[in-house]
Amino acid sequence: MSRAFARRFEVATTGRDQMLDVTRQVREVVQASGIRDGLVCVFVAHSTAALSVSEYEPGLVQDIRITAERLAAEHADYAHNRLNADDNAHSHLRSLVIGPSVTVPLVDGALTLGTWQRIVLLDFDTHPRTRTLWVQVLGE
Ligand code: ZN
Repeated sequence: MSRAFARRFEVATTGRDQMLDVTRQVREVVQASGIRDGLVCVFVAHSTAALSVSEYEPGLVQDIRITAERLAAEHADYAHNRLNADDNAHSHLRSLVIGPSVTVPLVDGALTLGTWQRIVLLDFDTHPRTRTLWVQVLGE
């Protein structure tokens, strides 16, 4: 019989294109669920952060900053900043390109990530934040 289990956790970030490995926290929720086969959806509930899957090593942690700047340059003329007296249009735009969630198959109690794949949180905002991530496990 199929079940659903959801839990959230929080991550303190520095913002400014920070990439953080959240695989361990996701695995802890999967373990707590007792579900062994199904799908694991991880979702970040903020519009200036994103989730993806990546190798996680110091080179890529630096390179994401250059790549983010190419995706949406920080110092450009954005309607979001003008209309809302805000400074983070580039943060929103970087996040929406990458997206707020990842889904990973769960097989025999294990996430089917490749050897070098980690679930990574990207925080593009302009200042430190506390981010809420949801994990929902569906299966049996
Ligand atoms: Zn904004």
